[in-house]
Amino acid sequence: MEFDFSYSFTDETSAPVLFKRIGIFGSTGSIGKQTLEVIRANPNLFSAAILTAQSNAELLIEQALEFLPAAVVIVDPAKYATVHQALHPKGIQVLSGEKGLEEVALMPCYDMMMAGIVGFAGLKPTLKAIESGRHIALANKETLVVAGDVVMSLAQEKGVSIIPVDSEHSAIFQCLVGERNNPIEKIILTASGGPFVGRKPNYLVNVKREHAIQHPNWSMGAKISIDSASLMNKGLEMIEAKWLFDLQPSQIEVVIHPQSIIHSMVQFRDNSIKAQMGLPDMKLPIQYAMAYPHRIDNEFPRFNFTKSATLSFDPPDIKTFRNLALAIRALNQGGNMPCILNAANELAVYGFIKNRLGFLDMTEVIERTMNNMPFIEHPTLEEYFESDGEARNFAASLINV
Ligand code: NAD
Ligand code: MG
Repeated sequence: MEFDFSYSFTDETSAPVLFKRIGIFGSTGSIGKQTLEVIRANPNLFSAAILTAQSNAELLIEQALEFLPAAVVIVDPAKYATVHQALHPKGIQVLSGEKGLEEVALMPCYDMMMAGIVGFAGLKPTLKAIESGRHIALANKETLVVAGDVVMSLAQEKGVSIIPVDSEHSAIFQCLVGERNNPIEKIILTASGGPFVGRKPNYLVNVKREHAIQHPNWSMGAKISIDSASLMNKGLEMIEAKWLFDLQPSQIEVVIHPQSIIHSMVQFRDNSIKAQMGLPDMKLPIQYAMAYPHRIDNEFPRFNFTKSATLSFDPPDIKTFRNLALAIRALNQGGNMPCILNAANELAVYGFIKNRLGFLDMTEVIERTMNNMPFIEHPTLEEYFESDGEARNFAASLINV
């Protein structure tokens, strides 16, 4: 299937920046909190129209009292009464449950969704937002890993732009502005390598959640931090890039770049390579996605070439970090295999966080799940949901969760 993603690009920067009402899905997480920082710094450009949280009622209430959104969702029904009591008197609509997320995604009170929920749970609300014609600032990469063809074709049909927030994909997107008709030879996704870069299996076998969660360059939620440590994150990002930029697997390369200064690169057919660079700070891709196609002022620390150490590049060690090899296998196989990989990985990461699995055992769970699930070459959305459920059940049976 081919997607024309060029409709997402506009070079129209002479018009003034339009005020946008942002619906922040996952406002209590790392991406959500940084989105609110960007809004706080630019009240003349953005407002927070929707806030949602899984279970952190206290933070959700605090955020809502500051930003006064039209609606909030607290997914955990046990927390509904507390949130309702605090926010209803302020005229804020309070919803609950997964259905609440889907309902709020269809509301007319916002212009752009910040998709900052972690994991498969982000897929349904994002589909609802696209259905109702809202543009998407996409942090939740799992949405494209699970059902990239369905999501991208629906976006195309509805004329909805999917603007990446993931720093690598934002970098590629920024390199492609103004290159509408120039074919890409390949993209080079950079990876910091995470906290265990250069380590071998005899070390990894003993690492614990506390080590894995300490990312050297970025401060992120627990799941993506562990995915970064296992290099699964880079595998998920290869699949994300395939859908976002309509690429063949052979056009996607990964290099380890521990300094995280080059956020990714595009090589064009004339052999010219464009890179997007800067200090690692997620607020930049967040504000770029929200203000696109404009660049707006900020006070973020600036990168100084003369004061920084060398920039280095190495191939990834996929024999040690086998999760990346499994993701490449899923990328090449296509069909429902990335969905199965993602479901098994979500369970494996959960098992690791709960100390029920070792770091290297995560790979075993994912591989066995991939080997045991029926392959579907062209799944429907229903079949993606079924594959996700079956893969979760199988992986759970291996972990005892
Ligand atoms: P996080 O764990 O810090 O936050 C997750 C948010 O989603 C929270 O608000 C939480 O309440 C909500 N949530 C969790 N489970 C939910 C569920 N089942 N239903 C509804 N809401 C739920 O995660 P994060 O680091 O902010 O990452 C969010 C997404 O952005 C992930 O897909 C991640 O891969 C992607 N991303 C994050 C970063 C980063 O720097 N944090 C960078 C690139 C991409
Ligand atoms: Mg990334």
